[in-house]
Amino acid sequence: MSATLSGHAVLDRDTPCLNCGYNLRTQPVTADCPECGMAVSISLRNDGLADAPPGYRRRLRHGAAWWLIGTLLTLPLLYVGVLVAAVGLWMLTAPQPGRAEPAADRALRRFGRLGFGLGALGFLTLCVGLGYTVVTGQARLFDARQSFDIAFILVHGAYTAGLIVTWRYLAGLAERVGDAAVAGRMDHLRRCWIGAVVGLFAIGLVSTAANWAYTRLSVYQPWVAPLLAALIAAMLVWLWIETWRAAWRLRGMLAAIG
Ligand SMILES: [Zn+2]
Repeated sequence: MSATLSGHAVLDRDTPCLNCGYNLRTQPVTADCPECGMAVSISLRNDGLADAPPGYRRRLRHGAAWWLIGTLLTLPLLYVGVLVAAVGLWMLTAPQPGRAEPAADRALRRFGRLGFGLGALGFLTLCVGLGYTVVTGQARLFDARQSFDIAFILVHGAYTAGLIVTWRYLAGLAERVGDAAVAGRMDHLRRCWIGAVVGLFAIGLVSTAANWAYTRLSVYQPWVAPLLAALIAAMLVWLWIETWRAAWRLRGMLAAIG
């Protein structure tokens, strides 16, 4: 990573400043960015999380525990687990008091919170709204079915986009611990979620094509719908396992630095 030049370790490879993007190559690792003044060590993820204030580290530990418990609850309890996990992720994406935060991290953190925060509130609204129509027997509200579908897709889209960005932010946290395995696990989780989104789109396309074949050509294949449903179920279970395993690893890492 660094070479020794007149007694100082200097960066000998292209490394962008995480705050302003300036190339820090040839800068001493102990210096500040010549462009924006943020410490080079922050861009190198050398400002260890172990040296962060104890209150902040405690919040991260609690956040990881809530995220893990919420994720485990998601399979049996669906949105109840999602909401518990969102509370945990909110704690995990809290800014560290007194630290100069790189603009790149701040953007990930804020976009992530906006996405999964709005998504979680949306889930709550949809569930309460649906419950209300069922309990009060106001079936006419289901006339707005199309707008419900759109709201359903928007809420899930915001939540998913927020999580994908948050996985990258949490990989940065693991890099500050120097735990390459957990950082890799978080990046792996991000790729899994992106893969699942692509997979769901592909299933949607196949399902649209099957629907078209049925209505226009009167071709009906009875195995298509169960097969697609089974594929979706398998993908969601796989994503659930990947997510709680990542949460488990992150929680262990944070517990180890205390
Ligand atoms: Zn800079």
